[in-house]
Amino acid sequence: MPQARLGPRDGDLPLAGGVETGGTKVVCAIGTSPADVRAAVEFPTATPEATLSRAVDFFLAHASRWPLAAVGIAAFGPLDLDAASPTYGTITTTPKPGWAGADLVGTLGRGLGLPVAIDTDVNASAMSEYRWGAARGLDTFVYLTVGTGIGGGALVDHRPLHGLVHPEMGHIRVPHDREADPFPGSCPYHRDCLEGLASGPAVAARWGRPPETLPADHPAWALEAHYLALGVVSAIGVLSPRRIVLGGGLLRQPTLLPLVRANVLRLLNGYVPARTIGDGIDRYIVASALGSRAGVMGAIALAQDIAST
Ligand code: ZN
Repeated sequence: MPQARLGPRDGDLPLAGGVETGGTKVVCAIGTSPADVRAAVEFPTATPEATLSRAVDFFLAHASRWPLAAVGIAAFGPLDLDAASPTYGTITTTPKPGWAGADLVGTLGRGLGLPVAIDTDVNASAMSEYRWGAARGLDTFVYLTVGTGIGGGALVDHRPLHGLVHPEMGHIRVPHDREADPFPGSCPYHRDCLEGLASGPAVAARWGRPPETLPADHPAWALEAHYLALGVVSAIGVLSPRRIVLGGGLLRQPTLLPLVRANVLRLLNGYVPARTIGDGIDRYIVASALGSRAGVMGAIALAQDIAST
């Protein structure tokens, strides 16, 4: 299967289009790899109709010069990813106004006349880290992004994990000591799930200022690392990943990643996984290599996979 190819050379990969739909902006790109992006554009997320037609127009404008093998979508969700479902490729229950039921795959497929692949933005990001970045060729690993929300993607045996729907690692429950941290949590569904306690908006609400303005020695970072480590340790326990790749805006604070590593080792407390990773924690929990391009490059990777099947 193409997903199992280890470290394909960029020259082997077809020219493809990628669309990353985020809560506030959309990124479209044409290329074969991060080193070979032929064209790219960003625009604000508007209604589904306006947003998707703008994406179609971008690819059509370049179609004669750069004919594409396929297009991939890295989307916020939740998504219907069941290929047998009549609503495959649509957004399901998002609270984002107007986007519930939006038919991403159908709209782009009809507009472009090309095969269209889709996955969650975090599974797509995991795909790009697998193909070109911080998890090259690893059969099983987790990608976790910490920003406006918290989301996790996973590759298991070289394939993005879907299952019933797709993983929702941001909404796992973590221990919450309300005496030490009286902040009630910001998730509209669960209050103090991982995202409700540790996303960028949660940090801003708890401390009364945006995370990027908090200095490295602010107690916010120790608490943030504590919560993220609880999430990472859960992912380690469930999926036995060979690596954890962390991305998202909060990782721009350089003090955070070393704190997360230390907390993970403390929480594992010498149990089996720690014996395997203990001395190599700096290589086990790593920063995203693709950074803000992980999503759109992952969309291109998804497209390349359906183009070559
Ligand atoms: Zn939640």
